[in-house]
Amino acid sequence: MIQIKTFTFNSFEENTYLVFDETGKGVVIDPGCYEKDEKDELAQFIETQNIKIKYLLNTHCHIDHVLGNDFVKEKYKVPFLIHKNDDPVLRSVKAYAPSYGFNLYREVLPDGYLAEGDTVTFGNTLFDVLFLPGHAPGHIGFYHKESNSLLSGDVLFEQSIGRTDLPGGDFNTLIKSIHQKIFTLPDDVVVYPGHGNTTTVGEEKISNPFCALNISQ
Ligand SMILES: [Zn+2]
Ligand SMILES: [Zn+2]
Repeated sequence: MIQIKTFTFNSFEENTYLVFDETGKGVVIDPGCYEKDEKDELAQFIETQNIKIKYLLNTHCHIDHVLGNDFVKEKYKVPFLIHKNDDPVLRSVKAYAPSYGFNLYREVLPDGYLAEGDTVTFGNTLFDVLFLPGHAPGHIGFYHKESNSLLSGDVLFEQSIGRTDLPGGDFNTLIKSIHQKIFTLPDDVVVYPGHGNTTTVGEEKISNPFCALNISQ
């Protein structure tokens, strides 16, 4: 069974997830580590738990989710995978990173692309890839059916949703992603979001002020 370790990194308080299983193999999702102490914290956990990293994955490529890509890629030398539609989002980061004070950001380009219906496997673990556009054009989520876990970046938050005013964002597309891809999962699926606390599909279906099922669209 998987274990999910959450780190909260950088000034955007972004959640970086390390998912690993009983075989000791794991993946890093959305490494937001930028400062040395953040990188040390991630690397130290991996070392202490003796985890063999197999993939570097991004749910989407906004700056807060990609700041640590170069560190993970360089240290663990693993394939880096994103959705193709977020390629321009990733490539735009280096131009605007200094305006947020991230002068040391180093771009890493993907080794391959993931799409709806693909799977990512490591150790005994299989993730289903869900395409969840709206917050970013190539936003994906990683669903682990066995443990009822969904790592879904900035799509659905506890009592909130991802912003849709950034390039490639679209409100109706985001709501559609949530209703068609997330709210169709079992109610007890735990959502591990890109910011803030975990929540569940059932809880957000009832009470999310932006997309609860009793709100008419
Ligand atoms: Zn984002
Ligand atoms: Zn974010």
